[in-house]
Amino acid sequence: DKYKSGLEKTRESFSTKLNDLVARYRKVDEEFFEDLEEILISADVGVNTVMDLVEELEMEAKRQNIKDARDLKEVISEKLVEIYTGGEDTFKTQAPLNIQPDDLSVFLFVGVNGVGKTTSIGKLAYQLKQEGKKVVLVAGDTFRAGAIEQLSAWGERVGVDVIKHGEGSDPAAVIYDGIQAAKSRKADVLLCDTAGRLQNKVNLMNELSKVKRVIEREIPNAPHDVLLVLDATTGQNALSQAKTFSEATDVSGIVLTKLDGTAKGGIVLAIRKQLDIPVKFVGLGEKMTDLEAFDPNAFVYGLFA
Ligand code: GDP
Repeated sequence: DKYKSGLEKTRESFSTKLNDLVARYRKVDEEFFEDLEEILISADVGVNTVMDLVEELEMEAKRQNIKDARDLKEVISEKLVEIYTGGEDTFKTQAPLNIQPDDLSVFLFVGVNGVGKTTSIGKLAYQLKQEGKKVVLVAGDTFRAGAIEQLSAWGERVGVDVIKHGEGSDPAAVIYDGIQAAKSRKADVLLCDTAGRLQNKVNLMNELSKVKRVIEREIPNAPHDVLLVLDATTGQNALSQAKTFSEATDVSGIVLTKLDGTAKGGIVLAIRKQLDIPVKFVGLGEKMTDLEAFDPNAFVYGLFA
C-alpha cells in the first residue's frame, strides 16, 4: 500500500499511458512496440534497457502467440521484475541490511548533499528503534553548514543519541567517537552520516577511505553496509553519482529517495542495469515512516496497480 501511494506519480503516468496504448492498438504490432518504447523511456527506465526489454517482449509475444495487447500487460510486469533481478538471487527479494545479531552493526551513509541522506538516516533510526534496537547516530558530515543540527534534530525527534563535534572538525575523529559511544552504551546499531561534496573526487575518496579505515580498525568486518543515497528525481545525475561513489568506496546498497516526487520510477531499473548493487530502501515521502524496504515485485506490480 505504501508502494501504491508512494508511486502514485509514476503509476499514473505509466499505467495511464500503457492502458491508453492498449486501448488504442488492441493488436500487438510493430507500432505498438514503438509506442511502448517511448512510454518506458519517458519513465527513465534507460534507453538501452528499454531496447532490450522491447526486443524480448516482441520475442515473447511471438513465442506465446499473443495477439491482443491486453494480454501483454502481465508479460511486461514479469519482464520488468526479471530485468531487476537479472536472474540473481540477491536481487529476487528484499535485500536486507547486514545486521549483526549479537554485535554492534555499523552502517555508513554516503551521497551528495540534498539527496535525502540525513532524512533517510532519521527514518531508518526510527524503524530500527521500533524494532527494539538501540540506535546511535554520528554526525560525520562536518562540512555542510547545518548538517550537524539537522541530524541532531532527527535524533531528538526519533529519541536516539547523536554523537557530534563542531563544524569543520575531522570526520574520522567524530566517527571514532561515535564508535566508542556506541560500544560503551551497548548500542545495537550505529548510523554514520558523511559529507557529500562531489566537487573534488580525490578529496571524497580520501575522506571516505579514512572514515572506513577508522571503522575497520575499531570493528573487524565493519562497516556492515555502505549505503549510497540517490535522489530518484535527478535521473541521469543519480546514475553518474552512483558511478563516482562506487569508484570511491565499496557501496553495498542503494537508498533511492523521493520516488513519491517523480513520474520516473523506472530509474530503479536503470540503476540496477548499470550497477551490481541492490536497492535496499526506497524513500516514499518526507515523514519518519516513509522509508520502505525495497521489494522488486511489490514495486513493479505497484506500477500497474
Ligand atoms: P541531505 O543533504 O542528503 O542530508 O538531504 P536531506 O535529508 O536534508 O533532504 C533534502 C530534502 O529532501 C528535505 O527537504 C527532505 O525532506 C526531502 N526528502 C528526503 N527524502 C525524501 C523522500 O523520500 N521523499 C520526499 N518527497 N522528500 C524527501
